[in-house]
Amino acid sequence: MAFPERVKNEAKRKASFRCVICQKSFVEVHHIIPESEGGSNDLENAAPLCASCHDLYGGNPEKRKQIREMRDHWFDLMEKRYNGEINILSPIEDDPNNYNMLKNKGIAVYHLVYEHEDFKTSANILVKLLQNTQKQFPNYKRYLYLDIEGHRNKNGGFDHDMYELQKDFALGLLMQFFTEIHMPLIGVKNPKLQRNDMPQEFVIFNNEKELISKLKKESRDKHFEIYPSE
Ligand SMILES: [Zn+2]
Repeated sequence: MAFPERVKNEAKRKASFRCVICQKSFVEVHHIIPESEGGSNDLENAAPLCASCHDLYGGNPEKRKQIREMRDHWFDLMEKRYNGEINILSPIEDDPNNYNMLKNKGIAVYHLVYEHEDFKTSANILVKLLQNTQKQFPNYKRYLYLDIEGHRNKNGGFDHDMYELQKDFALGLLMQFFTEIHMPLIGVKNPKLQRNDMPQEFVIFNNEKELISKLKKESRDKHFEIYPSE
């Protein structure tokens, strides 16, 4: 048995008739787990793929989990686009680099915070590392390894700067752009597909006062910067 027409149409519509891996148009709906291995004919097992992505990855059992993740990610983006939560005017671009998400090896990004580095310095270095990694290895899975020298309070815990760097900055903001983050406080896997559409510029503030004065100044300018958010 094949997918019922109803399931095929729903899958294609949810994907805006684009391949969930490279975003090219003209797709066929493929089984993520083949029927011969008990894969179902439900939407859950359906991935709209273009002919070349299907040839490259469709038959590789190791890629199933990732194809499913990419499918969910793409469905999610298209739903947001449909609901007007993301810019409906920006065209859907083919993303041949998306292929890189399917490579087995990712890129490790390592940073050692020195004793004298404050929050702002470390945060800026991490952003540069992230941007350079994306530039050199577009859309590869990224793994962040963070070490911290010193920066302990008298109880042996982390000082305010490094607590904030790990908790608010790394987990709160950077996590979405990495596949995994490993820090002294905690190691975390991104439950979603890593985002690669990072802003050109991250603005990092030392405190709220700085942020408010920057926002006030900006409101007089023509445009606002867009900050990443969940
Ligand atoms: Zn494709």
